[in-house]
Amino acid sequence: MFSLYTETPSFFNDICEEIRLFLPEEKRIIQLEHKNDMNAGEVLRHFFWQDETGWHNRAEYYTAGSRSAAIEEQPEFTDDHGNTVDITAPTLLAKKLKKHAVKQLIYRVMQEVCPKNMPWGSLTGIRPTKLFRELSKQHGTEWAHRIFTERYCVSEPKTQLAETICRVQEPFLKNSGTRDLDIYIGIPFCVSRCKYCSFISRDLKFNETIKDQYLPCLMHELDGMEEVFPKYRIRSVYIGGGTPTALNDHDLETVLKKVSGLFPERIEFTVEAGRPDTVTPEKLRILKDYGVERISINAQTTNDRTLELIGRNHTSEEFRRAFSLANKAGFKNINTDIILGLPCETVRDVKKTLTDIMEFAPSNVTVHTLAIKQSSAFAEERQNDLPGPGIVTEMVEFSQEFLFTAGYLPYYLYRQKYMSGNLENVGFAKPGAECIYNIDIMEETVSNLAFGAGGISKKLFPEQNLIKRAPNVKDLKNYIDRTDEMIRRKKELF
Ligand code: SF4
Repeated sequence: MFSLYTETPSFFNDICEEIRLFLPEEKRIIQLEHKNDMNAGEVLRHFFWQDETGWHNRAEYYTAGSRSAAIEEQPEFTDDHGNTVDITAPTLLAKKLKKHAVKQLIYRVMQEVCPKNMPWGSLTGIRPTKLFRELSKQHGTEWAHRIFTERYCVSEPKTQLAETICRVQEPFLKNSGTRDLDIYIGIPFCVSRCKYCSFISRDLKFNETIKDQYLPCLMHELDGMEEVFPKYRIRSVYIGGGTPTALNDHDLETVLKKVSGLFPERIEFTVEAGRPDTVTPEKLRILKDYGVERISINAQTTNDRTLELIGRNHTSEEFRRAFSLANKAGFKNINTDIILGLPCETVRDVKKTLTDIMEFAPSNVTVHTLAIKQSSAFAEERQNDLPGPGIVTEMVEFSQEFLFTAGYLPYYLYRQKYMSGNLENVGFAKPGAECIYNIDIMEETVSNLAFGAGGISKKLFPEQNLIKRAPNVKDLKNYIDRTDEMIRRKKELF
């Protein structure tokens, strides 16, 4: 157990995120009410106060009652133009500056007591590319680079990665505005459950009845927002899940007919066909007939033993078959996902997977780092066969080098909690094959309307630097019972 006392309790969770970077995942952090309420064990005390000399920010780390580290600083709070900001004011900027100062200090004291290689330094709970872009806008790329490495302690290669991604994204972001809108439609069904899956998706074998109730509600929800669509220019439509192609031919066609009819002018239309064992010539024909031009067929790994260990229920041969079928059906823009850090895998397995998938020359390759989430089967069966953070770091470095050399460029990035080695997920694409939806969603530069259980709609208010959300309920039964309420929530926002 780890104990924390802080004089900025509203940042308790943010401070915990910094501490967790250094702790074994299972360690609990408890909040101390009083500064002297210190039990034996590890304790961090954080003080934040003002006197005639200015603000003070101090952190002390105790192990079994004795002090192992202490850092005190006098932070200065200024805006983009160097003007002093009153951090007691109830503004977003004041809160942001104060939070950053607290997080940096906690990171520094933790690093002193438990030194650890942190590729992304103290960055937690923030999208690195979004931050890099914001900083570049203020004082240029070089300055952003320096702030990343010096203030946030981000490693040089990760800083360069963020910089490259921002550069690749630039033309896409330039072409978007407040009249643009992305559409997400969730099909939360799959053909079995992978052991690392944390989505709300259900196995269709046991959920046919609920699927038959869900799809009409989804259609109803789309109809319910019809009057809003003409106000916007639809940039992209993305049908995800689950695995939408897990639906039978009739259901898949019903969904696609509705969606393509509602959004005839979209610029991009993607459907996830993630599980290779759901891909058939007939389904590919249906996708083509309704104008889908971008699909995703996911290998994850081409090592059959690993596929078995992670409960994927398909073989690498089925991946090859599905990809060949899609190529034959005329799909030019195909993404494939791979996961690094899978049980028993080594850098050699990653090399084999990447070499194997290159046979099909996918236009996009999305490289994930395994993240074990609470709702996955992996979280219950403790894994002893996972490669350590050092090996996963090597895998990430190898894959990035491999894909760069093969002519792919990184174009979007996101990080999740509980990621192996505290690394990142990166989407790579051949120039010109970038997925607009992925960029818009990750960078939060375009509003989006989300349909189906668990979808989160977001509306941007750029003048106020604000994003408002309308989340749909996650539970399928709840969604079915409350579809009209989901429509109402979105209508109020849009
Ligand atoms: S294919 Fe995707 S949605 Fe389906 S179980 Fe696996 S991770 Fe979950």
